[in-house]
Amino acid sequence: MRNIILLSILAGTGVALTGYFVWLVIRAVYQVYRDWRLGHELAALQSEVTDWRARRAHANRDRLNTGCDHQFEDGPGSTFRRVCRHCGLEAERTSEVCDHHWRQLDSPIPRSSCDACGQEIEGFLGMPCSPDLAASDLNTAENPNEG
Ligand SMILES: [Zn+2]
Ligand SMILES: [Zn+2]
Repeated sequence: MRNIILLSILAGTGVALTGYFVWLVIRAVYQVYRDWRLGHELAALQSEVTDWRARRAHANRDRLNTGCDHQFEDGPGSTFRRVCRHCGLEAERTSEVCDHHWRQLDSPIPRSSCDACGQEIEGFLGMPCSPDLAASDLNTAENPNEG
């Protein structure tokens, strides 16, 4: 009777240990598989981003090919937006709504307006005085500071 109890305890321990090791192996295999998949997805994502960048750069080159010898101004807002001093076109489009063509307004404080959509902002040649202003200006057709 005691032998049977001892044997069943041993057998139980053996089964538990085997189960534990099997679980460890499955977990390790799963982790390797997960890393491999993540690596694949990352590579796919990176090539997609590279493609997208190339397409965007190409589209931007076409967009800037207007016959103007662009000279992009560096101003206080230039970290956000660079604008050609000749034609008012942005070096890179900053609005989904409108491809702005900035023009300096005749005003005592620096102020610009877009010929295409009529948006007005404070700042020299479409470049806002501060990056905060630029951020609030992004993707809005209306000037929030107006009125
Ligand atoms: Zn230009
Ligand atoms: Zn515009």
